[in-house]
Amino acid sequence: MSLQPSEDGGPAFLEVVFPIPLDRAFTYRAPPGLSVPVGCRVEALLGTRKAAGWVVGQARTPPEGLEEGAVKPILRPLDTEPLFGPGTPELAAWLAGMYLCSRGEALAAMLPSGRREPSEPSPPFEDYPPLGRSVTLSSEQEFALSRILADPSGRKYLYGTTGSGKTEVFLQAAEATLKEGRGVLYLVPEIALTRQVVEAVSRRFGDRCAVLHSGLSPSRRLSEWRRILSGKADVVVGARSAVFAPVANLGLVVIDEEHEGSYKSGSSPRYHARQVAMKRCADEKARLVLGSATPSAEAWSLMSEGSLERLNLTRRLAGGAPPVVEIVDMRGEGQALSRRLAEELARVKSEGGQSILFLNRRGFSYFFRCRSCGAEIRCRHCSVGLTYHKDRNRLLCHYCGYSEAPPRACPDCGSLDVGWAGFGTERVEEELAARFPGLSTARLDADTAARKGETARILDSFRDGKIDVLLGTQMVAKGLNFPGVKLVGIVLADTTLNLPDFRAAERTFSLVVQVAGRAGRFVPDGRVILQTFRPESPVMRFAAAQDVEGFYAAELAARRELGFPPYSRIIRVVFRSRKAERAWEGARNFARAAARILPADAEILGPAECPIAAMAGTFRLHVVLRAPSMGGLHRSVSGLLRDFEPPPDCRLETDVDPVSLL
Ligand code: ADP
Ligand code: ZN
Ligand code: ZN
Repeated sequence: MSLQPSEDGGPAFLEVVFPIPLDRAFTYRAPPGLSVPVGCRVEALLGTRKAAGWVVGQARTPPEGLEEGAVKPILRPLDTEPLFGPGTPELAAWLAGMYLCSRGEALAAMLPSGRREPSEPSPPFEDYPPLGRSVTLSSEQEFALSRILADPSGRKYLYGTTGSGKTEVFLQAAEATLKEGRGVLYLVPEIALTRQVVEAVSRRFGDRCAVLHSGLSPSRRLSEWRRILSGKADVVVGARSAVFAPVANLGLVVIDEEHEGSYKSGSSPRYHARQVAMKRCADEKARLVLGSATPSAEAWSLMSEGSLERLNLTRRLAGGAPPVVEIVDMRGEGQALSRRLAEELARVKSEGGQSILFLNRRGFSYFFRCRSCGAEIRCRHCSVGLTYHKDRNRLLCHYCGYSEAPPRACPDCGSLDVGWAGFGTERVEEELAARFPGLSTARLDADTAARKGETARILDSFRDGKIDVLLGTQMVAKGLNFPGVKLVGIVLADTTLNLPDFRAAERTFSLVVQVAGRAGRFVPDGRVILQTFRPESPVMRFAAAQDVEGFYAAELAARRELGFPPYSRIIRVVFRSRKAERAWEGARNFARAAARILPADAEILGPAECPIAAMAGTFRLHVVLRAPSMGGLHRSVSGLLRDFEPPPDCRLETDVDPVSLL
């Protein structure tokens, strides 16, 4: 398969695709006397600029109507061995079709971009202790494993709280699959948050294991990729893009923490690793096993319908207890830390314990609410929360574009104490410093994560007891397994609930349950305090009670009522421009064209400003297209996008099955 002199020494022609939005291949001449196999990268002139592309086909003769001499040569081959695995071209074609991008863009998302492999093959992550041994399974685990193994291409869901032994079942399913002579893909959400699992997999499988994550240098990624292609590694653990790993004879895909939003790509093509895994498992006749303590609404509805078998793990094998979650009503509290939370912080400190304060990663700072009763203003058309725009003093719906003046009084209770609210990390940090000068605090968030070694340093001092309060976003969860921790505060559970997004309740619920679940596992004698302006809201009550079934019964009924996924499918088209009028022009033209060709059961919401209306100096508008099923909607949008000419300076981004509408 490597670079070969072509037999007759004559010129071969190469079909090359590039990572550009144009969905076509370009023909080049191969270097004299060399044949470059399909799946290798080459450098060639695309117009006047040099670009790297993938060889997707070879030909003996030039394209029809062209003289041999008129075909440009490639500049140089970039690989000596192909990067494609057995199903790569087919998967790229499917990805391009499904997520409305070109084959070249699909390949760019799937394949490593590194150029040269590092000369020194260092271990992928760290040095692992020798092979971990598997434990004797509990009867529930045993049953789950036997159901998973019963069908060589079945689909199962492992549902159980933190510490119920899901990882061990995944690992033993992987072992059994390897014994069948088939390969394994083990997906985790973000490596930074799931280090223990990655280490467990690496330890269990040693040299056979390849690790793919975003922290690898491109060249390391390439060398891990080659180990998989060569068959030296047949167990792959990694984040989202590892779903494309060229594991031959795939027998099992595990998706751990299936509900996590990071499985969906945030840039084009906006694929969902779960969807890609389903496709691969169907094509390659492999098992798919999903798992979480808080399944996604999609998965839960499949399980309720009976089309996805749910395997329950109900016992906390590692000990721990169901967490005690105390809801604190923030109405009438003037500060970010309620009197109750403040009291607990002081008590824990006096007893020599430590606390963790959890803030949501993506809080939307401008939501409008009644400070007396907590009521929030919703769109009368879409029933999602209206977002307050301070600069214009208007409340805006980011689905349909509806807007209104903020009310003077609460429509529910008549109180005049209405306004916008929300607090971020800095505000909480300032308040802690002002009210608790004796507490030493540290912050963990995207800023600290960006500084090399900083996160580890902070976690080390927290473990050593030098810090009393660890404050921050999701990352603070890493501190939850430290023995000194006695209190976990969720500073404002509502921040995700108020996002103008139909998944707001689901996200809030899973976040609280996950934090509380971990606290229950690692801090069995501690407590969780959940601060909210909406203590009576079902989301908070179900979350505090860890009642997943109750939550989804209510949530899915609401989704059905409002026609949101999983009872509909959505394609979102975003229009971006430095000039607002260009973006509006593009969005309006598109919505008009869509109105002419969309199937009768599809709806067009918008154009409306995106909730994050401006990003890096560009305006963002969107049109949200929704239909009961994907088929007709997808076909017509796909056709529409082929013909649609956006105005100059207006760029278009398509998101099929968006997980967020921000
Ligand atoms: P989960 O993935 O559901 O959070 P894990 O698989 O990480 O749970 O298991 C939690 C802890 O319980 C781990 O320390 C693991 O070693 C231990 N454990 C798992 N299965 C068993 C078992 N059958 N017997 C004893 N301990 C177990
Ligand atoms: Zn009110
Ligand atoms: Zn609306």
